[in-house]
Amino acid sequence: MNTNEFNQWIDKVSGEASAYVPDIESLTQMGNALFNTPPLSRSTEPPALTVPGAEVSHSRPATGSSYPSTIPLPCEAELKALFTPNQYRAPAHISLSDSDHSGHPPWESSFYFLDEGIAPERHDRAAQIPAAHPPFDIHAIRRDFPILQEHVNGHSLVWLDNAATTQKPQAVIDRLTYFYTHENSNIHRAAHELAARATDAYEESRNKVRQFLNAASTDEIIFLRGTTEAINLVAQSWGRQHISAGDEIIITWLEHHANIVPWQMLCNETGARLRVVPVDEDGQVLLEEYQKLLNSHTRLVAFSQVSNALGTITPARQMVEMAHRVGARVLVDGAQSVSHMRVDVQQLDCDWFVFSGHKVFGPTGIGVLYGKTELLNDTQPWQGGGNMIQDVTFEKTAYHGAPARFEAGTGNIADAVGLGAAIDYVERIGLENISRYEHELMTYATGCLKSIAGLRLIGTAPDKAGVLSFTLKDFSTEEVGTALNREGIAVRAGHHCAQPILRRFGVESTVRPSLAFYNTYTDIDRLAAAIDRIRGKKNAF
Ligand SMILES: *Cc1c(COP(=O)(O)O)cnc(C)c1O
Repeated sequence: MNTNEFNQWIDKVSGEASAYVPDIESLTQMGNALFNTPPLSRSTEPPALTVPGAEVSHSRPATGSSYPSTIPLPCEAELKALFTPNQYRAPAHISLSDSDHSGHPPWESSFYFLDEGIAPERHDRAAQIPAAHPPFDIHAIRRDFPILQEHVNGHSLVWLDNAATTQKPQAVIDRLTYFYTHENSNIHRAAHELAARATDAYEESRNKVRQFLNAASTDEIIFLRGTTEAINLVAQSWGRQHISAGDEIIITWLEHHANIVPWQMLCNETGARLRVVPVDEDGQVLLEEYQKLLNSHTRLVAFSQVSNALGTITPARQMVEMAHRVGARVLVDGAQSVSHMRVDVQQLDCDWFVFSGHKVFGPTGIGVLYGKTELLNDTQPWQGGGNMIQDVTFEKTAYHGAPARFEAGTGNIADAVGLGAAIDYVERIGLENISRYEHELMTYATGCLKSIAGLRLIGTAPDKAGVLSFTLKDFSTEEVGTALNREGIAVRAGHHCAQPILRRFGVESTVRPSLAFYNTYTDIDRLAAAIDRIRGKKNAF
């Protein structure tokens, strides 16, 4: 049996058998046995995991000790020590090594894709829609995420809460371990070897973020706690400096609370006015209304590229341009976009762009503020402390330029490095491939949900990414969320930190399954079937 036949077989069996349920575990074991995978050990040449972006030039001659561009994978015993036996899976790059992947080394990105025409057959409904080209080897991808092997309430986990946070690939988990095992030190401030390693790793990660967003310079990339902190930074530094009574700030109805409250606070402080662009019945920004709100008082426009509550993709490029025409600055909230689509800040021409690491398969507690160089250097620092100063006397302090200017104190060094590994991982699969696959999965999921009687989809824009929000007649969203959890399906039920947009549609909360590239058609089938069962229960009364 080769990989492909195995995948077909898994699809078939897991598709057929809800009675057979939590058996991916034993399937995988059987699969591994069938492949007759030799046990991994240090005695054989370890396969290497390539880290794209490793061509990055080092600020000092490579010592050979900074994070290598190829990482030897841990041996089986080391991996096993990291996980309980249940959770342990040999990484995909090993367990399927060179079985049938057209001569490419298994760790090359092509590994994740199947040759056209040999994609595993999908069952039933999924077979009716066209396949991604090249099709994903979804099983190989899923094996990179150890948590996806978890069981919840006796069922294999279906993780559909990606808009709240994403799961982490083994490469990110390993990178954090490597950092704390071989590199940990504070950065920039010491003459010793580990400080050099940690600094290199941190700054390499900054460059990975720069490439990821296509920013012009690493000086434009500031590491922060996340989207929320990044928006507050702009509001409290640039905002206080440039916004005063009579000025106007424009946001849209779609915004996350993180892109509402900081501006509201700033308006309360300064006497500026918050204006809100309405959306249509499908949840799309009304551009004519937006145009009407723009005027010579507009100082700032802030909006999300993808709505976390509805999934709407906004026409960001156009909205930035419209704002610039009246001389306003623009902040784009990319918390929901970076994991689903290619982002190019130079092409968008936004003044700031913000996102959180944890929503793009990286660690929590790390995020990014991109800002144009002169704009950042023109902005007063937000917090004072170490790292951000050039010279301090009791009379006066001279600040560094960006990014150090906005990175006071010891930052989240390890997780910044982990974010770099997450970006490497995502780039290895390719955002274009991710977008294409998710688009098809989204189309499929929309069809499935629409066919359920009593289910109301909220947010029906043709251009959507990642999110399906709905309510179910006669059930509270909490009841639906709880019932789904009983079947091992994780979705968000609530207001998703975006109360205004839900109220716009006359509801206080929705159930929100949200997708990532490791979700499968089977996940969607299980969701749809579970919702059907929930309805059946009430109808029985
Ligand atoms: C999650 C999210 C935020 C807040 O991100 P944090 O990581 O909680 O700071 C802001 N905006 C959008 C669109 C989001 O999805």
